[in-house]
Amino acid sequence: MTHYALLIDGQLQTAEHLDEVLDPATEQVVGYAARASEAQVDAAVEAAQRAFAAWAADPQARRHALALAAAILRENSQQIAELISLEQGRPVRFTLGEVAGAAATFDHYASFETPPAEVLRDDEQRLVRIERRPLGVVAAITPWNVPIILLVLKLAPALHAGNTLVAKPSEHTPLSTLLLGHLLKDVFPAGVLNIVAGDGAIGERLSRHPQVRLITFTGSVATGKNLYAGAADDLKRLTLELGGNDAALVLADADIPAIAESLFWGAFWNSGQVCFAIKRLYVHQSLFEPLVAALVARAERTRLGSGLDPDTELGPLTNRQQLERVKALVADARAHGAVVHTGGTQPDGPGYFFAPTIVSGIGTGVALVDEEQFGPVLPVIAFDDVEDAIRQANASPFGLGASVWTRDVARGEAIARRLDAGLAWVNQHLDVHPGAPKGGYKWSGLGYEGGLRGYDAFSDLQVINIARR
Ligand code: ADP
Repeated sequence: MTHYALLIDGQLQTAEHLDEVLDPATEQVVGYAARASEAQVDAAVEAAQRAFAAWAADPQARRHALALAAAILRENSQQIAELISLEQGRPVRFTLGEVAGAAATFDHYASFETPPAEVLRDDEQRLVRIERRPLGVVAAITPWNVPIILLVLKLAPALHAGNTLVAKPSEHTPLSTLLLGHLLKDVFPAGVLNIVAGDGAIGERLSRHPQVRLITFTGSVATGKNLYAGAADDLKRLTLELGGNDAALVLADADIPAIAESLFWGAFWNSGQVCFAIKRLYVHQSLFEPLVAALVARAERTRLGSGLDPDTELGPLTNRQQLERVKALVADARAHGAVVHTGGTQPDGPGYFFAPTIVSGIGTGVALVDEEQFGPVLPVIAFDDVEDAIRQANASPFGLGASVWTRDVARGEAIARRLDAGLAWVNQHLDVHPGAPKGGYKWSGLGYEGGLRGYDAFSDLQVINIARR
């Protein structure tokens, strides 16, 4: 059984406590993660602070290291992908895509040119120029659903901009991130990249360290709000990528056979454990029956299994808590009169599997519709009037993504514009352009990740004013 070490100040370090990490498909131990002590968290932040000045001063070295990181990810993609699959549950065919996406992200930043400083005035009397300055130590706290790409989307721009970083993966999926630390140990100068593992208390210790200047977080709304409150004391900068309860609106003219497969994957990819998965499906009542029939047929031929089996389409939920939450939401929906068209059960045998489930007969006021299920269960809700569907879609504290499905693309776009969502799609869902800033409205987040807007979160501005006479 393998032990996975922390990365602190360029050294792999074990810890007094080891946490076992289970394969959600078998409930067998995959490996042991070193659990950082408070002293190790502090040591990681202090190492990052010491490394900061030299790293900030050498943009060439930063680009070179990011290119090397991309190459190392590619060389080790099978090993990383299998480990993600083992601890998280998603099939290797998808985790390979995750690692390829992470390598592409490193490559993107390796060749990314920081936009030039803006000159507001440059004449005989005065020079006024706006420059970016790195912040210092960044704390990156990540969740368990897509552990490597979500970390690298923070790590690569943070380091490119000249910051140093301490990462803390989820206690449910720490091994792939610790493996990444092991593989990248010699790519960055000591202290530039540090990885500590542990639970929320370790995340809290890290996020409150006085030398941390920015917290970049992806995870639950509850933890995001905690971090926001905790950051106030020290006025730390903060980027929050939180939950979603994305609505998809299927209009009366939609072509069901053409879109059913995309709708299915928009809701069920990674067993629904995606912040911006389709979590509520509103359909014009004239298409309700054919749409439900198409989704049920697709769900019933879905191959559930271990992520390591090449035939598997959907793996288990990543942890028991999430399975229990999904089961409780389905039970509550049934108690409110829901019709379960397919699924609704946990298959026999070990593992946190749940059959892909299609539900109808419930609406606003039932938890499965109002809250984020983060699992393979989709409520389908019929509407008469599209205005009513738009109102229901927007009547949510979340505002991450939303989509409109129609043959009339212009109308689809007009409706998409009216949906309260940072990501709005027509005839697709989930697909995020690598250059696009990703951010949620309302409880779905604060700030942006990706694109220039996201990159700028990793810098402060400094206005240089020079009097020439
Ligand atoms: P989930 O409930 O989906 O696991 P969380 O928001 O609890 O989502 O977890 C996301 C990440 O935040 C994990 O790495 C977790 O350990 C960390 N975390 C949880 N609580 C805190 C906290 N109070 N402060 C900082 N990080 C935390």
